[in-house]
Amino acid sequence: MVSVLLIEDDQRIRQSLAGSLADLGYDVRSTTTGIAGVEEAVTAAPDVVVLDLGLPDIGGNEVLKMIRAVTSVPVIVATAQDDEGGIVRIFDAGADDYVVKPFSAEHLAARIRAVLRRTGGDTADTEIRIAGLTVDLAAHEATLDGEPLDLTSKEFELLAYLAARPGVMIPKRVLMAEVWRQPYGGADKTVDVHLSWLRRKLGESASEARFIHTRRGVGVKLVDPSA
Ligand code: CA
Repeated sequence: MVSVLLIEDDQRIRQSLAGSLADLGYDVRSTTTGIAGVEEAVTAAPDVVVLDLGLPDIGGNEVLKMIRAVTSVPVIVATAQDDEGGIVRIFDAGADDYVVKPFSAEHLAARIRAVLRRTGGDTADTEIRIAGLTVDLAAHEATLDGEPLDLTSKEFELLAYLAARPGVMIPKRVLMAEVWRQPYGGADKTVDVHLSWLRRKLGESASEARFIHTRRGVGVKLVDPSA
């Protein structure tokens, strides 16, 4: 059974699409906000995501980038616009396909089948360099300005996860699921504590951030401080 995650804030569209897709034999779950959608895209590991661009909490293109940063799940964007510039931006942000509203569940199902037929695996680089920071994924080692960092296994995984997605804000719950392999729920402290250890080892602090930047209620990102 193909599982679909529907990220759509319009209740009428969401219920109607979810019902029709279920009738067509899809396993459908849905969220109404971008943040919940990114979390669900990781924890529920759907086969395909259908993303509405006009969401109440975060811009659709931003949600798309966040999803792209944490999973390679195919994403079909549902958009009200059919202007060429908007569509180019959607693909640049990592969409696999798009449908222009209004569309039928049958039309969407055909796009889902096509996207699933052509999506393949992706390959990852084994070494990441950001300014003076080097993260060697194969050797499980990191250096800062040529000096080895003495990281615990979880600190390394956290650093590697963020460094592989530079500039992209990652929700802490996604880190709980991806780095700690734990279902989330009030466990943000674990992430905070490890972030604080990691920062200390990188020679920075929350008030004097260089690589690691957090935004309350949203998440954390690793940035190139020289950029
Ligand atoms: Ca909407």
